[in-house]
Amino acid sequence: MMSCGSQCPIHGNLSVRGRSFEGVVIKKFPKRLTLAFERTVYVRKYERYAKAMTKLHARLPPCMEQDIHIGDVIRVTECRPLSKIIHFVVVAKIKQNDARQKPREDQ
Ligand SMILES: [Zn+2]
Repeated sequence: MMSCGSQCPIHGNLSVRGRSFEGVVIKKFPKRLTLAFERTVYVRKYERYAKAMTKLHARLPPCMEQDIHIGDVIRVTECRPLSKIIHFVVVAKIKQNDARQKPREDQ
């Protein structure tokens, strides 16, 4: 049922290496998503650290497409460049977006 092929590091043959980030899903597309996370940047003028947002595009493997929604916290890992803007792939979902959880599912 799932055809992950070269799209997935778990079932497919897409190998991952390099950096790994955790972030919040801000946009979702059929095979791709955008995530954002905060990082600290040193500002020399003030000798302080400032917060900056990083946006990243990542491949969304077919097996996780149903499970990941906007607002979820996910983990991505660097892989070979899959397109001009994609060189990360989703490897895990860390936290469900609380606002999306259905309140009365266990009753
Ligand atoms: Zn898969």
